[in-house]
Amino acid sequence: MNNTQTFNAINPATNQSLDKAYPVATEEQIDEAVQNASDAFDVYRKKDKDSIADFLDCSAEEILKLGDALLERCHLETALPLARLEGERGRTVGQLRLFASVVREGSWVDARIDTADPERSPLPKPDVRHMLIPLGPVAIFGASNFPLAFSVGGGDTASALAAGCPVVVKGHPAHPGTSEIVAQAFLKAIKECGMPNGTFSLVQGNTNAVGEALVKHPGIKAVGFTGSFAGGKALFDLANSRPGPIPVFAEMGSTNPVFILPGILREKAEAIATGMAGSITLGVGQFCTNPGLTIFQQSEVSEEFQNLLSNKIGEAPSGTMLTPGIKAAYDKGVVITKSIDDVEVIAKGKQEDTPNSAQARIFKTSIENLGKNAALAEENFGPSNILVEAQSKEQIFNVARGLKGHLTATVHGTDSDLAEYVELLNILEKKVGRVLINGYPTGVEVCHAMVHGGPYPATTAPQTTSVGTNAIKRFVRPVCYQNYPDLLLPSALKGVNSLNIWRLVNGEFTKS
Ligand code: NAP
Repeated sequence: MNNTQTFNAINPATNQSLDKAYPVATEEQIDEAVQNASDAFDVYRKKDKDSIADFLDCSAEEILKLGDALLERCHLETALPLARLEGERGRTVGQLRLFASVVREGSWVDARIDTADPERSPLPKPDVRHMLIPLGPVAIFGASNFPLAFSVGGGDTASALAAGCPVVVKGHPAHPGTSEIVAQAFLKAIKECGMPNGTFSLVQGNTNAVGEALVKHPGIKAVGFTGSFAGGKALFDLANSRPGPIPVFAEMGSTNPVFILPGILREKAEAIATGMAGSITLGVGQFCTNPGLTIFQQSEVSEEFQNLLSNKIGEAPSGTMLTPGIKAAYDKGVVITKSIDDVEVIAKGKQEDTPNSAQARIFKTSIENLGKNAALAEENFGPSNILVEAQSKEQIFNVARGLKGHLTATVHGTDSDLAEYVELLNILEKKVGRVLINGYPTGVEVCHAMVHGGPYPATTAPQTTSVGTNAIKRFVRPVCYQNYPDLLLPSALKGVNSLNIWRLVNGEFTKS
């Protein structure tokens, strides 16, 4: 990597290059960022919980103080509407504050204490204490489709910092200006809160080489990623081929199948068609939870439902996609889908003759064809959906059984539908991270119970989530302290519970 290399963001609404050139990080700069993060780790991980919580709150405040300049730059780089970006900033700040509250409360460290019993026969029982400790510096890849809430200051960064891990962010090349502005907020918070300098840093670049160097660096101990399957899998393989392999938490998208059961389709065809059209086209279909596949059972209302959905999609305005690359990938996906035998286009959205403008599509195919063509069940990132009409309940179950891992699955059904198709729910919970009833998968609540994850290929780590407070668990590992003198134990495990956290003491949860 040569240090004179630079790149510019492109305004996707015009295809014009934006003013400022950003340097592509050199190997030396990446090494320096990771070394600083490693040095910071020993200090940062020992900070008390209130100091880390204050730092997260302060980072949130500093992001808010960036004001409209942040939103305006982000709008230029992503073409996302300002109102959406304002909401996304609220989510970003809310996430940081939510993790601050989790850290301040403190019980997330999962303190477990089994006290000694020297009299136990035939062998004395040792004193054994367990808690979660941070892994070390984490490399985070910002997502293109959430330039605030899943990028430099997003959920991955918030959860890693909350866990006690310094972060080195690889900014997404589509929004380098946004990334740089948000990074300034963290650097200010570091100063204000007296955190070590390497607690947060940003490296930029528009070549795979930057991300590869970061993931290969021995100082990096885990990776958080949101993006394409190709990118996530490449980084997962790279991390596993290191002399010291590390975990990669890659969230790589999904088709998010929706099943509509016969009873509810008879009762609510219009409402479901409206809801589906809204979910398919929301944010120009650029959500990892966008519904890409709809399965319903043939009945006297099937045609009416298809017509209603087609009409709604026909009225859907086109929207500007995030990057020329994402638009090209969507168009290519549409061409591939259309070219498969026995696939018809039943609806097209409006098309504007502006750069990177995407037209919504509804395809239809038979259940037999879905079984024969794996490509039909793969994500085409953008506003499209494939309708599949089943002839029987058993065919619906078989579609579900044939699914690979997805982030979500949705079932629309009346109470009696759900009772009759309970086996569908049993199958789906083995396939996805979140099962929804009578809703739409777009919109991921940031809360304690959320799971935004799922079996491979939706993610590379099915036991975790990248949204919600459990995301903190990705960046820690359990350590057990046996027969430690009280003086040397971490505060969370000492005899006196000075942190007032929930602990599992001899099998019972207690704060005493
Ligand atoms: P991407 O191409 O996977 O890139 C994501 C990040 O990873 C970027 O920083 C990229 O930077 C880096 N990267 C990608 N491949 C890499 C490799 N082999 N080695 C090292 N670094 C690598 O994702 P994208 O640009 O956001 O969008 C492309 C496609 O991803 C979309 O068409 C869509 O299918 C999918 N997508 C999925 C989600 C989701 O929520 N799961 C979100 C957005 C996009 P460099 O290019 O600089 O290396």
